[in-house]
Amino acid sequence: MTENAFGAIELGGTKTFVLIAKDRSKIYSRKIFPTLSPKQTIMDISNFFREQTNTFNVKLKSIGIGSFGPLDLDPESKTFGYITSTPKLEWRFTNLKGNIENGLQTPVVIDTDVNASALGEFQSLLDQDIDCFVYITIGTGIGAGFIVNGKLVHGLVHPEFGHIKIPHDKRIDPFIGICPYHQDCFEGLASGPALEERWHISPNLLPKHHMAWELEADYISLALMNLICTISPQKIILGGGVMHQTQLFEKIHRKTRNLLNNYIKSKYLEDHIHELITPPQLKDNSGILGALDLAINNSR
Ligand code: ZN
Repeated sequence: MTENAFGAIELGGTKTFVLIAKDRSKIYSRKIFPTLSPKQTIMDISNFFREQTNTFNVKLKSIGIGSFGPLDLDPESKTFGYITSTPKLEWRFTNLKGNIENGLQTPVVIDTDVNASALGEFQSLLDQDIDCFVYITIGTGIGAGFIVNGKLVHGLVHPEFGHIKIPHDKRIDPFIGICPYHQDCFEGLASGPALEERWHISPNLLPKHHMAWELEADYISLALMNLICTISPQKIILGGGVMHQTQLFEKIHRKTRNLLNNYIKSKYLEDHIHELITPPQLKDNSGILGALDLAINNSR
């Protein structure tokens, strides 16, 4: 008998992750391949689902996608489910949701990669009764997914936390920033490519005691202070390639507390800040498991 299952796609700028599962505990098949042209990549994705659903004799009830963006997530819009003004020129105005939905004749739900990761991490913390949750990725870009009362926040479009302005003391850090829109916004100062351009070396090769990490922790802590004072999250997860530098956590904990200066009274800002601001539990699987959660939630 054919069993029901769900599909998940994490579409990244350089690689694409696909998976078929009944739920997190029963994964049938998974694969990673390079992200090429839209035509080729959508074909690779469709072939994977066709072949593997046959092999395992399952039928997909729904497919969840977490994708790089920006995306049009307005269901009323003519370009709903499209990748829009991305710097990856080939992918501009690709009808991602529509092409996969039509090709596989399966309902598709789409959200940003950071929102999928936020959902993936949040689902792992359901026992903790968290109303206000934030997942931040600090890597090639910076972005944040917000979950309030169990729901991903979209608002006008989707949050763009990477582009907030934070204080930038040019006497200490004369680097002008790399954001093409705002120059020295948070992403312009603190993303992986910003680190590389400021220090003329890949961030992976910077020694752990290099002053780059002190400055990086300063910028992240300033952003976190603004975040904590704005929506008072009960959990902030910091993921993405730059956060593989685990020495950053202790610095961020200390600097964020110093910036807040005992103003907000919560045990989590006093001696439990390491429980408030944490690394991801799912490591680099947050996005694909979050895309699976999108698919499962979509068919409820
Ligand atoms: Zn910016």
